[in-house]
Amino acid sequence: MPTTARNGSFFPGAADLAARIDVLADRLSDGLKPLASIAYNYAWSWTRDGAAVFRDINPHRWELAGGNPVRFLGDLWPGTVEAAERNPALLERVQALSEEVGTYLERPDRPRPGVDGPVAFFCAEFGFHSSMPIYSGGLGVLAGDILKEASDQALPMIGIGLFYRRGYFRQRLDSAGRQQEYWVTNDPKSMPMVRVTGPDGAPLLLDVPLSGEPLYFQVWRVDVGRIPLLLLDSQVPENDAVQRWTTARLYDGSRAIRLAQYGLLGMGGMRALQALRIDPAVIHLNEGHPSLAVLELAASRVAQGATLADALAELRDRVVFTTHTPVAAGNETYSPDEFLGAFGDLPGRLGIDVSEFLRLSQSAPDGPPGMTPLALRVSGRRNGVSRLHGEVARRMWQPLFDLPEADVPIAHVTNGAHIPTFLGDPMYRLLTEHLGEGWLERAADPATWAGVHGVPNGELWAARRDSRERLVTYVRAKSQQDRLLRGEQIAYVRAIEDCLDPNALTLGFARRLATYKRLYLLTQDPDRARRILGGAQPVQLLISGKAHPNDEGGKDALQRVYNLKREDGEIAERVVFVEDYDLDVARHLVSGCDVWVNLPRKPMEASGTSGMKAAFNGVLQLSVLDGWWAEGFDGENGWGIPGDEDPDPGVADQRDATTFYDLLEHEVVPLFYERDAEGVPVRWCEKIKASLATNGPMFSATRMVDDYAAWMYPTR
Ligand SMILES: *Cc1c(COP(=O)(O)O)cnc(C)c1O
Repeated sequence: MPTTARNGSFFPGAADLAARIDVLADRLSDGLKPLASIAYNYAWSWTRDGAAVFRDINPHRWELAGGNPVRFLGDLWPGTVEAAERNPALLERVQALSEEVGTYLERPDRPRPGVDGPVAFFCAEFGFHSSMPIYSGGLGVLAGDILKEASDQALPMIGIGLFYRRGYFRQRLDSAGRQQEYWVTNDPKSMPMVRVTGPDGAPLLLDVPLSGEPLYFQVWRVDVGRIPLLLLDSQVPENDAVQRWTTARLYDGSRAIRLAQYGLLGMGGMRALQALRIDPAVIHLNEGHPSLAVLELAASRVAQGATLADALAELRDRVVFTTHTPVAAGNETYSPDEFLGAFGDLPGRLGIDVSEFLRLSQSAPDGPPGMTPLALRVSGRRNGVSRLHGEVARRMWQPLFDLPEADVPIAHVTNGAHIPTFLGDPMYRLLTEHLGEGWLERAADPATWAGVHGVPNGELWAARRDSRERLVTYVRAKSQQDRLLRGEQIAYVRAIEDCLDPNALTLGFARRLATYKRLYLLTQDPDRARRILGGAQPVQLLISGKAHPNDEGGKDALQRVYNLKREDGEIAERVVFVEDYDLDVARHLVSGCDVWVNLPRKPMEASGTSGMKAAFNGVLQLSVLDGWWAEGFDGENGWGIPGDEDPDPGVADQRDATTFYDLLEHEVVPLFYERDAEGVPVRWCEKIKASLATNGPMFSATRMVDDYAAWMYPTR
């Protein structure tokens, strides 16, 4: 029985996709066949019963497949397929899922006023599911959330990124607590993606001029709901080994490779759109990496006789640039030789001389070129990612615009997070009961969330307890596996069963372990940390995150936290480091903790989004008032650490660590353990409601995409 691809048949790659789906469907029994097309669109991953349907066919195999349904279905034993075919309840769920996803995908487009065509959303990384490891952290997850939300809102959009054959590194700790890195190869054959073919049926093969030679690439298509994501890939036989390495690793350690990646993403992305006859209404550059896309488009206008100045003036209206980096050092610069070595033929194609080309990418005369100044110059609308970050960006880039700081044309659109992805089942059920059917579509409206004030505390507390218990179960199972892999003593491996208390106040700290995130503040005063953790009112701490492979300081901080538990048997059961932070780990942590901790050095956290994900789940913040939390904290809906800037970072560290411990010891712990006769922490629950009612609407991806569609995308 042939199945049809309903993943937007208008779009290139649709026939390829239909063929792949048919091959997969042939392996399945009639009742399971609908799963073949579901597997090739990540919409299942944020549909409520989606993951559970796959898992319930065979939980062990689902885990082995890393949540990748194409690999999972392709590897099923015939006996498993037969057993599923004899399970009517399961087949009914397959049918219901198929109908839900089908209805979702088939809604008509909902174009926005002033946006006459698709938005081409360019980013160097996309994080939408752990089974597609082409992201490193917040930037990628945000990009993934924008695609998902655009899909939910039926906003026409196309994503453009790179397909990293080895993705981002995986993390393992050795028994001394030192981070080790390893890379796993992504195999497109067993992933939910198809190679885009040209009109002749052969795989599309394009090239971009890089380092004086053509770099060839092919194009993959991944469906993220209604949004096709095009991923460019230099792993083709026409390239030599070094050229093929261009898309091997995300943010490769070599500067020359990184420049080649940005060249491929920008110029190659635009060439792919042109080859597929897609004319975007808006070009959205998410961070500066893809900014050569605009120059590529300008070069085609110059080839038709326009001047560069005219071409850029005409394009600028259609280009949106979002900056995510609040420190100058975060915006990488290059020597003119490196820059011209990579992009040396652009000046000729743009009809300008080399110095004029360099000037486009310099933030100051004779300064080193970089992608961010270029993005600022070629875009007509620019934004930071929180109110505070907007201010910081205006101050930082004032010299480039030569205007008073307040007039620097950089606005802000505060980030948001995709609620359906990050909301755990217990809180989803509770909120759906009290906020009404369809509340997710109205998530940006504060009135939607007003309903939380009517939730009985007992019910709220039951959902929170359920969430925490699920997290404890997950962390125990994962840590036991981690310990086995590390070759720990079996007694220690078994001891995980006594680790963590499903009723104890649970703190979460999980993110990329960049130095400015100050993981080390947790152990700034080790004795005090031990006293709080080992106190009569139990507190437990879950930590997760990867340090950059070259960041020895980050690895040291990780090791210190790890050793905190090693040195002290009593708190060993109360501190767990969850290895290999990724979207899957994140989803579990943000839904099950009680308190989310974020201690960035102000103003380095442009936005931060993990705390938003936690907030939707009824998790309270205990965080520095930087990024989104500077905007979200109202004195009642969590706890804020002022974290004011200080010329001496050591002074700020000491002060902020003390405030953190003080708040934890004197406010957070007592409030959590203040219970009524039924064991419910009434005032804690009221705080959760205050947090949901305020943070829910403000930091949903729905509000974020509404803002982009209303303020940043319209071209007329
Ligand atoms: C949300 C998320 C991030 C970003 O979190 P921050 O709070 O911005 O650091 C990073 N990695 C993963 C896997 C995430 O889900």
